[in-house]
Amino acid sequence: TQSLAEVDPEIHAAVRAELRRQQHTLELIASENFAPVAVMEAQGSVLTNKYAEGYPGRRYYGGCEHVDVVEQLAIDRVKQLFGAGFANVQPHSGAQANAAAMFALLDPGDTILGLDLAHGGHLTHGMRLNFSGKLYNVVAYQVRRSDYKVDMEELERLALQHRPKLIVAGWSAYPMHLDFAEFRRIADLVGAYLMVDMAHFAGLVAAGLHPNPVPHADVVTTTTHKTLGGPRGGVILTNRADLAKAINSAVFPGQQGGPLEHVIAAKAVAFKMAATEEFRDRQRRAIHGARILAGRLLADDAQAVGITVLAGGTEVHLVLVDLRRSELDGKQAEDRLHSVGVTVNRNAVPFDPRPPMISSGLRVGTPALATRGFGPVEFTEVADIIANTLITTPTDESLAEARSRVAALAAKFPLYPGL
Ligand code: PLP
Repeated sequence: TQSLAEVDPEIHAAVRAELRRQQHTLELIASENFAPVAVMEAQGSVLTNKYAEGYPGRRYYGGCEHVDVVEQLAIDRVKQLFGAGFANVQPHSGAQANAAAMFALLDPGDTILGLDLAHGGHLTHGMRLNFSGKLYNVVAYQVRRSDYKVDMEELERLALQHRPKLIVAGWSAYPMHLDFAEFRRIADLVGAYLMVDMAHFAGLVAAGLHPNPVPHADVVTTTTHKTLGGPRGGVILTNRADLAKAINSAVFPGQQGGPLEHVIAAKAVAFKMAATEEFRDRQRRAIHGARILAGRLLADDAQAVGITVLAGGTEVHLVLVDLRRSELDGKQAEDRLHSVGVTVNRNAVPFDPRPPMISSGLRVGTPALATRGFGPVEFTEVADIIANTLITTPTDESLAEARSRVAALAAKFPLYPGL
């Protein structure tokens, strides 16, 4: 019954310090969000104590009557949210969901066709050092040099040439919608499975603000903690009844042991919240905010110092800042924004001349601040702080001014006020 502060003051202090960091800075990492208190309450519950290998109604442990209720609610809600016939809510993370989905569909040595990491793909879509790159024969497609959109003609050419067993659509750093129907057509052309990893844009799909991949794909995977705003975790969906058993078996016992029922409870809460008008409003503000950021970073004063926005804008919750023509590299830009309380991550841009650890891009995302309550007025101010900080040579005064503007915005929308 002792509290965290009593048992472990060091960890307690670090957790409190992280809470203060989240409260007093502006979080613009595109893959992050602020989980609602109700989600954290479920995740911090006694469900963490329970072993429940298996699936609701078919467990290998006794005493699962309550976690069965929890997991079934999570399954039913996420199926409803995305219009899917089947869901597995047990993957511990997005990477685990992708590993299990590939395990269900492929044999080691099979060929997969995924978006190049350097062009916005995820590690699990075939990066050399990842399980996907080690287990499977990877062919990567890229974006076009002319407009930085996925090159669907190249995709078709590569598909015909390499005859992949799986095509992966989805991204970690890409500002546009994908044409899922066209991916489907190309997959059918060569008899490949189509897997869509909607980890980044799942919240937008749930809100009806982004095309839904579920009707087009054989399998859809997602994380639950990005735009969806739930606990850290993964989900696998399909409308193909013939794949359901293979997916369940690939997650457990294929990839995982006992499910994290406390996290699954938190996922269920997040799915319930994602079906509300309040959630849709948040996603609308996230997309609108990203457009405002793109517009500001495309202005003449940014272009004059070699700063621009990849693909000329955004249709989603993030903007890719292109610093290839700027003296400022991605690392310097990230550090400078950090010094005024704005958190973003540097990111390689396609055809990046700088090495990945330095890079020539920034990925700037709006979901966390939209959750905090930010709307067009605040995003206009955020965009101006970011643009000014990057464009002008910093002085003690300019940095202090940016810091005080950040503090004012943070104070306007208090985060986790009761904690
Ligand atoms: N898929 C995509 C598209 C992602 O962007 C990410 C996370 O960055 C993942 C999967 C992996 O999710 P996790 O970090 O939960 O393993």
